[in-house]
Amino acid sequence: MPELPEVEVLRRELEPFLRGKRIVRVEIRDPRFGFPKEAAEGKTIIGVRRLGKYLLFGLAEGGCLALHLGMTGKLLLAKENTPQKHERMDILLSSGEHLLFCDTRRLGKIAFLREEKELSEKLGLDPLSPAYTLENVRALLEGGRRLKDFLLDQRGICGIGNIYASEILFRARLHPERPLSSLSEAEKARLFVAVREVLEEAIEERGTTIRDFRRTLGEEGNFQHLLAVYGKSHCPSCGTPIVRKVIASRSTYFCPRCQPLEGEGNPLVQE
Ligand SMILES: [Zn+2]
Repeated sequence: MPELPEVEVLRRELEPFLRGKRIVRVEIRDPRFGFPKEAAEGKTIIGVRRLGKYLLFGLAEGGCLALHLGMTGKLLLAKENTPQKHERMDILLSSGEHLLFCDTRRLGKIAFLREEKELSEKLGLDPLSPAYTLENVRALLEGGRRLKDFLLDQRGICGIGNIYASEILFRARLHPERPLSSLSEAEKARLFVAVREVLEEAIEERGTTIRDFRRTLGEEGNFQHLLAVYGKSHCPSCGTPIVRKVIASRSTYFCPRCQPLEGEGNPLVQE
């Protein structure tokens, strides 16, 4: 399931193909993905932006199309419209190409937004945005919630999903069940850095794949080779067996030695 790095790689691949192209026609194949087609038809795409896990196709005439890939959403750029499996939407571009959205499990979302803030107001800090500063992140790290829940909540920091949450917490050497209020200043700073580092490294690695024209976009990459703890059996740093535990209803992987629950600043070890 795509998280911020996968969506960002997709955005970078898509933008040169879409910028300046006009949307000639929109065919909705599944009413679940319906939106007012006339809001997009005849309009010109001025750019593709990303916010958290959403792609935003900006339109020169105002507004944007927002797309969330859900669990299984895929975009395919095709020279001809040959019907695809689980095709939900077909956008015919002025270049004659078709941008197809396919989604097996139908958990994706498409909407027309008059203003980007309709979405941005519901989401937290994007880790690649200028607003992602230590000061702003520190202000979010309050209260008794656990780190894992905090990272998955798109209203705090947006774009992180289950896989990168484990990777980020390992990088920061923080136990996923640590309450936010137990974090020392040094630990908050480690978390702040780890979020950006892990996501940026993943983007870089995924950006090195070979491209051909007619294909599913954003599929390749070395994602699985980057993982340090997610789905792994032993810690790459100390060799301790990795613990898999369901936290926030999702599989969470961590090293019990490198990420102790009783860390510095944790009230459990403060007399
Ligand atoms: Zn370890």
